[in-house]
Amino acid sequence: PLGVDVRDVEFTYDGGTPALRRTSLSVAPGEHVGISGPSGAGKTTLARLLLRLWVPDSGTITFASGDGRTVDSWALPEPSFRRMVTLVEQDSPVFHGSVLDNMHLADPAATEEDVLDALDRAGLPLGGKRWTSGVDTLIGEQGMSLSGGERARFCLARALLLKPKLLVLDETTASLDAASERALLDAVSRLAGETTVITISHRESTLAACDRRVQLGV
Ligand code: ADP
Ligand code: ADP
Repeated sequence: PLGVDVRDVEFTYDGGTPALRRTSLSVAPGEHVGISGPSGAGKTTLARLLLRLWVPDSGTITFASGDGRTVDSWALPEPSFRRMVTLVEQDSPVFHGSVLDNMHLADPAATEEDVLDALDRAGLPLGGKRWTSGVDTLIGEQGMSLSGGERARFCLARALLLKPKLLVLDETTASLDAASERALLDAVSRLAGETTVITISHRESTLAACDRRVQLGV
């Protein structure tokens, strides 16, 4: 698992007011940290900075491996970075085609066994349900036909396929019913120690599953 140290990070969107003001935050390797804060506090901005989708105006983001080595976020080459740090958003896109097709978009080299393993780890086990298309496993099902809860776990599975060392969940449970939220959080808790998890949420029941909480924008 990968720890992360966010140090004095500032970020302003073009023409906007500051979205993050001198924000610092440290997450140890293997930890599961919850991030809360009012709407507009910069939580999604922080997630996108962690993912290198935006560049901080100032400050640093440093990753730390379990053996204590640290590396500046921008020093990592793009292909390995994209596998190391993954993001699941509230509405991560699901594309036309089967679940297997969607998985191959994330990792063309993934075998069917890899895909079934990722689905299992995300709480969508082989043979867990008989799918409408008549297949025994989820992989042949149309990605777009999944229910909201299945879709959220599918998006988690797609992220897990890449074997991330740091997983960022941005309001992934926001639109889920309690049972689907539970199923997703159970899968996340099974990652303990193996993957560092940063969970952004405004939902008390989701934050309660984290080891520790950090509040932004206060
Ligand atoms: P949160 O996730 O805590 O609700 P955000 O990171 O989405 O906060 O937003 C922080 C601030 O940045 C808000 O003032 C928001 O309006 C602004 N903002 C977010 N995304 C953009 C964008 N793409 N362009 C301009 N301003 C943005
Ligand atoms: P290149 O591949 O051309 O060498 P980099 O991958 O180093 O470029 O950087 C890509 C972008 O990230 C550039 O906009 C650069 O300004 C920015 N950047 C590079 N290093 C850092 C850093 N340490 N902190 C913040 N931004 C950085």
